[in-house]
Amino acid sequence: MEKYDVAIIGGGLLGTSISYWISNLYDAKVVVVEKESDVGMHTSSRNTGVVHSPFYLNPDKKAKLAKAAFLSHDMWKTFAQKKGLPWKMVGTMEVALDETEYKILEKYVNWGSQNGMSEKNLELLSGSKVMQREPNIRCHSAIHCKTDAVVDYGEFTRKLKEESQRNGTKFLLNRQLELVENIDDYSILTFQNKEKISSKFVINCAGGYSLDIAKKFGLANDYSSLHFRGEYWIAHDEYANLVKTNVYSVPKYPDFPFLDPHWILRSDGKSEVGPNAVPVPSPETYSGYVGDVETFISKLTEVVTGSTRKLLLNADFMNLVAKEWLSSLSKTIMIERIQEFIPKIKPEFFSERGTAGIRTPIITPEGKFLPDVLELEGKNSYHILNYNSPGATGAPAYSAFVVKSLQEKGLLQYKTRKTDSIWDFETIT
Ligand SMILES: Cc1cc2nc3c(=O)[nH]c(=O)nc-3n(C[C@H](O)[C@H](O)[C@H](O)COP(=O)(O)OP(=O)(O)OC[C@H]3O[C@@H](n4cnc5c(N)ncnc54)[C@H](O)[C@@H]3O)c2cc1C
Repeated sequence: MEKYDVAIIGGGLLGTSISYWISNLYDAKVVVVEKESDVGMHTSSRNTGVVHSPFYLNPDKKAKLAKAAFLSHDMWKTFAQKKGLPWKMVGTMEVALDETEYKILEKYVNWGSQNGMSEKNLELLSGSKVMQREPNIRCHSAIHCKTDAVVDYGEFTRKLKEESQRNGTKFLLNRQLELVENIDDYSILTFQNKEKISSKFVINCAGGYSLDIAKKFGLANDYSSLHFRGEYWIAHDEYANLVKTNVYSVPKYPDFPFLDPHWILRSDGKSEVGPNAVPVPSPETYSGYVGDVETFISKLTEVVTGSTRKLLLNADFMNLVAKEWLSSLSKTIMIERIQEFIPKIKPEFFSERGTAGIRTPIITPEGKFLPDVLELEGKNSYHILNYNSPGATGAPAYSAFVVKSLQEKGLLQYKTRKTDSIWDFETIT
């Protein structure tokens, strides 16, 4: 049985970034365990691809995600430059459709500066000013955020894996963690193929499955999760330039962890609309609504018996779910949501679906969506749950905060070393 100092479960952007920092800073034997044949095959490749500036994140409720997003912007820019990866500063128009929504934009400008953004990068515009810049947008007013960029996060994950491998990290692919045994000062991890490894410390970064993994360690038993598939439609090439910036609208339900569908530019030059947020039974139900019957029944049972049940009594939530279902079943209904601010757009401009991705928000024992990341410490283990949007943006800085916090708790007692790094750990933390 191979022995490791640190085993990271999940080779998404988060697990790969954490492996990068630990292997960069310590002379430790680090392994990333990933059930797929490569890293970044799930949420880290199945997202909108926006490097978000944190003006829309409430600094009181989403402090960690906001700080990480702010710091990571320039880290990813440097990374893209050094690795020759696409980085397009397309900017975002966040549009308000009436005076009430305009008040929310005013609040966003304040949040932007509280989250560290420079005032010159956030401009409040009247509807007519917006139209001068983007003739196909109709709105009451908008924030023009100049710093938002679009990238390919799947490619970022694979390149970061190479950097981590250069530091000595081993990537064990096609290994699905099934069983955990906690022995005194180490854990034995058994994979689906019956292979075992042991590790002194385990970090759980399993994305949509991180709650399930935490439960294997006896943690977070009162929490549950829901899965929402975000679907996209790709615009025919002749309409890709209908609007030359991302367009987001003020979310109708700010307490729920997803934004309404938007107009987005991709780093490969395509434009898409999406994502909606359709409830599905698992973190990997990328098509259909039921998935395999066993998973469906088990999720249904969890929903009606667990903390999620309380959410079903929330009328706003049920209204939103109904709207999201309809926009999954009907392309026309999805496009109508975008027509509210880009009236020229038509369902016939879209005939191909984009790559869907699934968000897995954690539901508290009180039946509420958890707004920020949840970090849990177990015996010889650390668990990161609810690492949702803008998690891809924040990964390089957030993973540095995690490593710093493990250092401060005395959980990384290995010989330090000085290795060249793309980013400077001390400056970031
Ligand atoms: C529709 C959508 C749009 C988004 N848009 C944006 C955006 O524009 N900008 C942004 O910043 N963020 C965005 N996000 C959020 C962002 O993509 C995620 O926060 C981020 O990718 C999460 O990374 P992760 O490493 O935690 O998860 P993942 O990438 O899902 O990685 C988890 C990994 O764990 C592995 N795993 C799970 N269980 C096991 C097991 N038992 N054994 C071994 N391996 C296991 C999985 O195979 C997977 O590879 C979006 C998300 C969605 C769903």
